[in-house]
Amino acid sequence: MTGYGIDHLPYGVASHQGRALVVVRLEDDVVDLAALDAEAPSFDPLLFAGPDLGPLLAAGAEVWAAVRAWLQETLPGSTVARIPLAEVEMRMPFAVADYVDFYASLNHASNVGKIFRPDAEPLLPNWRHLPVGYHGRAGTVVPSGTPIVRPHGQRRPGPDGRPAFGPSQALDIEAELGFVVGAPSVLGAAVAAGAFADHVFGVTLLNDWSARDIQAWEYVPLGPFLGKSFATSISPWITPLAALEDVRVPLPGQDPAPLDYLRVAEPAGYGIDLEVVVNGTVVSRPPYASMYWSPAQMLAHMTVNGASLRTGDLYGSGTISGPERDQRGSLLELSWGGSEPFALDDGTTRSYLQDGDTVTLRATAGSITLGEVEGTITSRASWPDE
Ligand code: CA
Repeated sequence: MTGYGIDHLPYGVASHQGRALVVVRLEDDVVDLAALDAEAPSFDPLLFAGPDLGPLLAAGAEVWAAVRAWLQETLPGSTVARIPLAEVEMRMPFAVADYVDFYASLNHASNVGKIFRPDAEPLLPNWRHLPVGYHGRAGTVVPSGTPIVRPHGQRRPGPDGRPAFGPSQALDIEAELGFVVGAPSVLGAAVAAGAFADHVFGVTLLNDWSARDIQAWEYVPLGPFLGKSFATSISPWITPLAALEDVRVPLPGQDPAPLDYLRVAEPAGYGIDLEVVVNGTVVSRPPYASMYWSPAQMLAHMTVNGASLRTGDLYGSGTISGPERDQRGSLLELSWGGSEPFALDDGTTRSYLQDGDTVTLRATAGSITLGEVEGTITSRASWPDE
């Protein structure tokens, strides 16, 4: 079982013979949707015309359901418009409009609180009342395989009071799910949590690369900035929400009950199991089912002030960390702030990433396998500044 059967059908954009094709993956092939539809036209040709998933995302939930039903009826027993996966190169699947990142794992937020504020209550007073988040940098969201250039920046001052400057010495990952918005909303109108599936097209694996030393010095009082904005990697494959129906699970429980606009019908969580792989060693297995806030609640909160959604908006769940040590979704937590380095299979240890390290995020959701996201750390010396 490959995890890419007829029950999955993730969408992407494949480069093939100089053209960008809107495709779904089926087993080890991609299916060129424009070519498939041309056999017996059923849809507006603009839907699959590319150069990315934008027109399909914008078309809305009724069209998404119709396309999926068409594919599940047409593809079995057909080889029309198929291209071996090995003959294409996957591209950025959609133009990211706005990028927002949340902080929805109770275990992650508690761990970070304990590491950075060991003598204080780990959770800040707002955390159980709203999904905390910030607006990130859409233009630096990159597809899997893009090299990650170690960022330079300021770090905490030394004894002379002047900030240190140079390459980050605490380059980290954050294992997350990204939610891709398709259908837009109107400025001034809030999107209800119950309208989640009307607006969100699908899910992708996301690595929110983080420079902890830059972050620690700059983040007060306005939150994450250059310690995050240098790169965010996503899988080139977007798994449609419809493929995740079978793995919906209830949330672990919310206490106190959230305000009315954040109430959500159960099951609102997803049973998606991640793996964090560093240079071939699985260092963690974060369970998405452990997340405190659901993606529908994040969507409702993100728009409750009247902010509108645009096609291509992307929001991240925040680092996914389960309650166990080997379920932590960041190296910050796995190495407990750098004080407990962890071992790789090659006999080396890590607290944070070294140049040349490759990080891969994988995930399964029941019988399906999400597209992986990978990145290798490079130093700026091998990448000209201009
Ligand atoms: Ca994050």
